[in-house]
Parts: sequence; structure tokens; C-alpha cells
Amino acid sequence: MRQSKTIGIVGGGQLGRMLTQAAVKLDFKVVVLNSSDNSPASQVGAQEIIGDLYDQTALEHLAKVTDLITIEIEHLNADALKIIAKNKNIFPRPEVIKLIQDKYNQKIFLHKNGFAVADFRDIKSESEAKEALKYFGNKMLIKAKHGAYDGRGNAVVTNLKELKVALKQFEGRELYAEAFVPFSKELAVMVAMSTEGNIKKFPVTETFHDRNICIETQTPADIGKGITKKVEDLAKMVVRKLNSVGTFGIEMFLTADGKVLVNEIAPRVHNSGHYTIEACKTSQFDQHIRAITGMELGSTEMIVPAAVMINILGERDGETLVTSDTNLENTPDVHIHLYGKSPTKIDRKMGHITATGRTIKEAKDKALKARASIVI
Ligand code: AMP
Repeated sequence: MRQSKTIGIVGGGQLGRMLTQAAVKLDFKVVVLNSSDNSPASQVGAQEIIGDLYDQTALEHLAKVTDLITIEIEHLNADALKIIAKNKNIFPRPEVIKLIQDKYNQKIFLHKNGFAVADFRDIKSESEAKEALKYFGNKMLIKAKHGAYDGRGNAVVTNLKELKVALKQFEGRELYAEAFVPFSKELAVMVAMSTEGNIKKFPVTETFHDRNICIETQTPADIGKGITKKVEDLAKMVVRKLNSVGTFGIEMFLTADGKVLVNEIAPRVHNSGHYTIEACKTSQFDQHIRAITGMELGSTEMIVPAAVMINILGERDGETLVTSDTNLENTPDVHIHLYGKSPTKIDRKMGHITATGRTIKEAKDKALKARASIVI
């Protein structure tokens, strides 16, 4: 008989909420550390400690009242977690969180370990930025090394004027430059590693972004068997190299000539894996809880032919007032997830919809119909 443990989660947003739902189902208790009260996770049964994710004392408090710790966001005090990890299991390893916090170091790690990435270089001054623009043939991205999420922290630059604007916009932040990849598709794979070192990957999903924000995923990605295998193997190798327990999101670019470049690693469950809740035997959230608590990993097989996930982004700034067509909420194969966030803000992730079907088209039509019925 398994003893019910208490899992601490750093962050209580939508990922913390869905992790809590998975943990509670598996008979664990959850305490989240969140910067404000009434977090999405607390609304589904997590106890809440209010505190800053960079505050060592708050993290120590979380450690004191829990048996093990995981994260739903990487923007936190990784050095404090390193100290706490001496006496407490933390998944993923704080060293991995620290590595991924710095997008430039993450690229170096990937490159050093033989994974193909977009060409990149450090920029420490305006003149180095100008040199980089010349080097990359007048098309590159300026990226903030730290604290970037949902594309906030990236700027595409094609001339000196745009470069000036980007440097002004990111003033005071450490930056690097990256070649612009004219990819044909963006792909992502969720991969989990257990405490025993077993690794399981979820199906490859195609992700779609607008203004750098993930707006849609389609699974399985329409890329053929050969590329699928290549992408899956690559994602597993990245996680093997990270050598850390938990679920990770590996984001990649596929080019027209069949090359696969690793773009970014998420050291946690990820938006591109939300479809797994309804489309796979085990969801990414269940898998993460299973991995960090020493359980065997579950089957990642799809139980439907196709799944389309679309994000519900805030459309205005103000109090959240959701209206939706309740008939659609009862439609089989259409699953509406609202995260309980307030206020709503333009482009804030307020929820998502996953629709399943016999084909991507069928699933997408259902998802779009449901989305059109929701005002948020
Ligand atoms: P990131 O947060 O750095 O993963 O970037 C967010 C989004 O920006 C990605 O999902 C891509 O759509 C786009 N992007 C990032 N890096 C590149 C690149 N080197 N070339 C082209 N597009 C990129």
C-alpha cells in the first residue's frame, strides 16, 4: 500500500492546476507556492503558500511542509532549490532548472552535446549586435537570456533600425542573437524520465504560434514515419542528456529539407502537451506525477486518431466574465478547460480546448466551433 505523500509545486498557475488534478487523482496531497492567493491550483484542491518564487524563505517553507518538490515554472530561485535539494527530492534537478533559465547557456549545452540548433552568438554591446546582424545576413532574432516566456523577450531584426528598437526594448537585459530559421513546421515532444531512468515519449505534436504565443497544436504531427522517428529519438536523447526525472517539453524546428533543430527545452509539463489529457492513455500531468513519485511510467499511446488543442487567450483587460454555449461543453470529443484566472488580460492564457476526432480537420472544426462560443 502506497503512503500518501505531499507534493510541493513551485507555482500555482494553470500547469500547477492540472498537475494538482493529476496528483489528487493518484491520492497525493499538494501544496503550491504562488505569488498571490486564489491561484488556479488552489481552486482544485492544492493548499497554498503565498510567497515570491525567488524568495529563499518561501521556498524553504514549501520544503518544510512537503515530501518532495516539483515546478510548474522555471522562473524561480534555482540556487535556493540547490540548497534545499541536499535534504529533499526536487524534480527536475535544480541544476537543470538553472541551465534552462539561461536560454544562451541552454543553447551552448545543446550544441556541445551534438544537438543541431540554430546558429547563435552572444551579444554584449551594440557593436556586437551590429556584427551579428551582418553575420546572420540581415535576418536574426534578438533573444533575452533570462525571464522570457510566451515569446516576450524575442524580437526579429532585419535592419539597423529594427536592431535599435530591439536593443532599446530589451535595455538592461542580457541578450544573444540567433539565426532566423525559415522552418516548415514547429514540432514538440513531451518526454518523461522515471526515477529508475526509464524514458517514455508522447506522440509528436505540431505547434502553431502567433506573435510568439502558442495558439494551437495538432497531434499527431503530419510529418511521415521517418521524420517522426527522428524527432522522437532526438527528444529522448535530449532528456537522456539532461539526466533528470520528470516530464520535459522539447520544442523543435523542422526545415523544408528534413533537418530537425532543437529550439528550446521546457523543464516541466508544457502547453504543447495539453492534448494528452484527452488523447493519450496517460496525460503529461499524470506522467509527471508518476515520474517524480517513483511510480512506473504510464502508456503514452493515443486513444483517438487525432487531437487539436487551441488556447483560449484573453481578449481584453478586466474582470473575467466567461460566457459559453453550455451545449458545447456537453459535446463529446470537445473538452473545455478554464483555468479560473482573474483578471483577464489581452493574450493571457485563460484556458484551452481540446477536440478529438477521426482526422485533424474534424477535430479542428469542433475546436474552432467551441472557441467561437466562448467570450472571455
Ligand atoms: P522561443 O520562446 O525562443 O522558443 O520563441 C518563441 C517562438 O518564436 C518560437 O516558437 C518560434 O515560432 C519563434 N522563433 C524562435 N526562435 C526562432 C528562430 N531562430 N527562427 C525563427 N523563428 C524563431
